[in-house]
Amino acid sequence: MGASHGIAEGKAYLLARKKTKFSKRYVAQEHVDKEIRRVQEALEKSKADLRKIKETLTHEDVHEHLFILDSHLMILEDPMLVDSVSEIITLERKNAEWALLTAFDNLKRVFNGSENEYLRERKSDFDYLCNWILKHLAGRGEESLQHINDKVVLVSHYLSPAETAQMDREKVIGFVTDLGGKTSHTAILARAMKIPAVVGAEKATQEINAGDRIILDGIEGLVVVNPTRETLDHYRNRKVQYGNLERDLLKARDLPAETLEGKRIQLTANIEMVEEANSVLEYGAEGIGLYRTEFLCLSQGRIPCEEEHFQVYRSVVERVAPYPVNIRTFDFGSDKSPDIASLRQERNPALGLRSIRYCLREPEIFKDQLRAILRASHYGKLRILFPMVSGLSELEKAKAIYEEAKEEVREKGQPYDPNVEIGIMVEVPSAALIADVLAKEVDFFSVGTNDLIQYCMAIDRVNKEVAYLYEPLHPSILRILKFVVEAGHAAGIRVGMCGEMASDLRYLFVLLGFGFDQLSMVSSMIPWVKRIIRSSRHEEAKSLVEMLLATKHGKENEMTLSTWIQEKYPDLSDAVLCGYPGSLGSSRKGISDYSGEPSDDLHERKAVPACFRVRSKGLCKGD
Ligand code: PEP
Ligand code: MG
Repeated sequence: MGASHGIAEGKAYLLARKKTKFSKRYVAQEHVDKEIRRVQEALEKSKADLRKIKETLTHEDVHEHLFILDSHLMILEDPMLVDSVSEIITLERKNAEWALLTAFDNLKRVFNGSENEYLRERKSDFDYLCNWILKHLAGRGEESLQHINDKVVLVSHYLSPAETAQMDREKVIGFVTDLGGKTSHTAILARAMKIPAVVGAEKATQEINAGDRIILDGIEGLVVVNPTRETLDHYRNRKVQYGNLERDLLKARDLPAETLEGKRIQLTANIEMVEEANSVLEYGAEGIGLYRTEFLCLSQGRIPCEEEHFQVYRSVVERVAPYPVNIRTFDFGSDKSPDIASLRQERNPALGLRSIRYCLREPEIFKDQLRAILRASHYGKLRILFPMVSGLSELEKAKAIYEEAKEEVREKGQPYDPNVEIGIMVEVPSAALIADVLAKEVDFFSVGTNDLIQYCMAIDRVNKEVAYLYEPLHPSILRILKFVVEAGHAAGIRVGMCGEMASDLRYLFVLLGFGFDQLSMVSSMIPWVKRIIRSSRHEEAKSLVEMLLATKHGKENEMTLSTWIQEKYPDLSDAVLCGYPGSLGSSRKGISDYSGEPSDDLHERKAVPACFRVRSKGLCKGD
């Protein structure tokens, strides 16, 4: 996976590190205290390491992300950690290493089941920390990056965020790791520090030898080992082109996302964690279209109190001001950790007591959240989004509780915006089919295609056996989208989309054709989506939609769409259809408003060997 954009070329530097090995032993009663002391000492050393690293980090790019190290320190300093390890040693008589691993495994379990990539990868932070302490238990610290003297591409089994933050950018020009994911803190830091990176390469440390020449493509998620002269030249050219393209795209950051005829679409970001709010404006987001607040509970393992909610929402709103933030009320239940929402295990959780249903059942919990949102509304522009609404009576009940919350805030004399807009997620077919009725009761719609398609096609969205039925262009879905947009517009309200369909470049023309007012997505996709919108014609997209609505099969529509894109937008088709945003052409007239030269590397891409172009993710040895 490409974790941080950019291309690096250099010599491989291998960090010889594997998971720290240790034996699992039971200890005798008389050794229990000694084992506990060993853990305490190792913990102290690890904390001291982290504090020292923090002190040495002065560069401002990294400074903004010091919260990552703070959160690591908080985990190590939490008395619960040492208590639970001590308890395991005492009760289960496991040796220090084994007890430590057990305690971290327990912590990780909370995150493991999450469908959310960001949260799943929080467990990698526990892995780093556990490994760090294990190293001290084994009597040695982590191999340092300090003695790297040349410019190198670092190759390692894993890299902790703390190490990444310490990297000297003059020397480490890129890195590849066997482990890791795109939204791990290590990847977040690599992006902040603009170090190209590929993570999750699985066998990089086995396939690459120290001193090998490496090309690392952080955009495609590709590592080429000992490339030929031709490949080297190709990537050198490409590096220049990427640089131009990125500069172009970022220059367009403040330009509107509008079609060639001037039809404007608002592009906003989806976030799960408060810290993501920092970077959304850098990508040109005009606010946050979906803040999934349930992750606040999932990351803490409990439902926060009103004050905690308030602090978080206020901070998000202030970070994004003057742009708006759509705060979605809790959508937990189903696959999002029922334990935490104190929900019973259900036979059919996706159809069970989730989301707004749970909130209506637990009005006090719901009201805590609503009061906090209202209080945060004083500090910026904020809107409320109710998830999983299935009909009018649910919406009426939710609004009644909202009115009570408002009254309570008012009675306490706390400042709030009395005109906070209320919207609903349109993600349950029953709601979609009465969109004309619901539109009269709210200020905006946000279509959640992840659930809408799940419920409409009767397929579990996390079950890969039925994933083939997940067809955004199925005639039923297209009809629903058309109906929802038209119903919303007839009532004079905005209609947006925040499901994954909104960030899939293939479907962009379809959404344009339907007339969506807002598209919300992972922020890094915004520059690419904007580029395509600014190169397209709304009228053409409308005719495309007419054509698709006339067909009977979703699969047929996929083919029709591909052909249409290739014919109408040949210079965009490579990027749109192959999911390779690095190759966006510029068919937009007046592209000079991005300044710099248009970056059309389509011609060059044709010269690239097939192994690099078609599903080129992974390692290509000796190309
Ligand atoms: C959706 O269902 O499309 C959506 C955006 O909500 P979530 O993915 O959080 O269920
Ligand atoms: Mg949903």
